[in-house]
Amino acid sequence: MLSQKSVKSVLNKHKKRDSWFLDEYSVNPFEGCSCNCLYCYIRGSKYGENMNERLTLKSNILPVLEKQLQLRAKKNQYGIVAVGSATDAYMHHEEKLEITKAILELLLKYRFPVFISTKQTLITRDIALLKEIDKVAILPVDLKLSLKRGVILSVSLSTTNEKISNILEPGAAPPLQRLQLIRQLKTEGFLAGVNAIPILPFISDTEEELEKIIAAAKQHDADYILAGGLTLFGDGMADSKTLYYKFLQRYKPELVEKYDLLFGDKFYAPWKYHDELKSKADLLCRKYNIRNRIIE
Ligand code: SF4
Repeated sequence: MLSQKSVKSVLNKHKKRDSWFLDEYSVNPFEGCSCNCLYCYIRGSKYGENMNERLTLKSNILPVLEKQLQLRAKKNQYGIVAVGSATDAYMHHEEKLEITKAILELLLKYRFPVFISTKQTLITRDIALLKEIDKVAILPVDLKLSLKRGVILSVSLSTTNEKISNILEPGAAPPLQRLQLIRQLKTEGFLAGVNAIPILPFISDTEEELEKIIAAAKQHDADYILAGGLTLFGDGMADSKTLYYKFLQRYKPELVEKYDLLFGDKFYAPWKYHDELKSKADLLCRKYNIRNRIIE
């Protein structure tokens, strides 16, 4: 059963604009996420191994958010709001609860621009609402010329391999459905692309696999693809590093040693690895004529 908790603040203001997604605020209707990705950075003992079991809804999110949006709008502090930065705003509970829909209605009322990255197809339910936001949202001055629209949509994809996705992202829509979703969002006129973060070392970061992801993004009309590396946190039973290693030991034991060498006792691979990944992705983006960032 979904737990509930009352919160004092829901609109988080970042210290600076996110360089990938351009958001300056984030709002998360839930704590935890039923997509339950093994590599998820929010994992930890608080949610247990199955995050769906301890999922919590912020029960008073709407009145608190309205108050915070009202104040920011009054001060003309407009910025892109990421809806679901530490949860998937369209996870399966949303179908009944319609809490993300209500959040979008508030963002429309106060004319805040929106960024959403999802692994679910339920977002299509809110297309009409998102179109309204896209038209009327007020952008920060420096984005007005370069972005010119109020909604940025992303489909999150770490691999095109359905078998691997089933294990690593058990509660998410299959990769092909996510790719088809981009085409649908593009047909509806949105700025939409692929958030390929995390790309999985030795699984989806090879030339061949990376090319499959970038080619698929292009084939499904994505405006952009953002490719970034994997971070694996913690050593507790429910932490991402522990669960990801369990996945490797069971399904890809030949990779355990390679991961040991790459990560050591750190949570991330060395900068050299990230630089090489970026170079490979940039080259492929040029080959397929697709942007490696949201705006030029
Ligand atoms: S969809 Fe995102 S927030 Fe949800 S479990 Fe997966 S990585 Fe975590």
